[in-house]
Amino acid sequence: CGIVAHVTSAAPSSRTLDVLLEGLGRLEYRGYDSAGVALAGTGADRVASAKRAGKLVNLREALAEQPLPSATAGIGHTRWATHGAPTDLNAHPHLADDGRLALIHNGIVENFAVLRAELEADGVTFLSETDTEVAAHLLAREHAKVGDLAEAMRSVARRLEGTFTLLAVHVDHPDLVVGARHDSPLVVGLGEGENFLGSDVAAFISQTNEALELGQDQVVSITPTTVTVTDFHGNPAEGRRYSVDWDASA
Ligand code: GLU
Repeated sequence: CGIVAHVTSAAPSSRTLDVLLEGLGRLEYRGYDSAGVALAGTGADRVASAKRAGKLVNLREALAEQPLPSATAGIGHTRWATHGAPTDLNAHPHLADDGRLALIHNGIVENFAVLRAELEADGVTFLSETDTEVAAHLLAREHAKVGDLAEAMRSVARRLEGTFTLLAVHVDHPDLVVGARHDSPLVVGLGEGENFLGSDVAAFISQTNEALELGQDQVVSITPTTVTVTDFHGNPAEGRRYSVDWDASA
């Protein structure tokens, strides 16, 4: 139901997680039943992640008990369950590629049953009852083929039916977050040596007022210093840049 992401050129620190939690807090007004985060660029060979059913305070408590390492890229999610009960396991992020990739999703994957059957026939084990998890495993499969996360995301976006904002991180790309948008919102927040993504500007408004609204059926890659937008076929595209006129202290 809410989405936030951060990527920075600074040395790994707690800032990425702080930005994610602050953003998720600002998205709470939208209503949700679970929350979770995943971090890359920690130096580990798996993403670091935590997710909990219930309010953000449950996730914060889990993080206090089991802190996550310093990082340079991360994604955060609040879930409004459509497929699968609001449990810890069904909360996002969903991991794939032996924990090397993490993905979050707002929306509904209408053709998840067909895709799940295809992936299971391929030997993939599912850990959740969500429609979303197919996207994580599809992305992992495509990424293993092409090595390029944005290219892999475009190919996943072309196969999904329904509505989606998808974001993913992969340990192979510690300074990258990739997103896709189809009939669901996604906005880029532009910083200095860092960039952000949000399902709305509230997700990053305390960090920057400079935003780039993406069009439908676009894939975006953010690094600390670049924002690259294409359509689902890899043709270059552009977002609409604007300044948010909003007092973040409110
Ligand atoms: N359909 C997904 C799920 O049930 C995502 C729901 C959402 O938009 O938060 O997990």
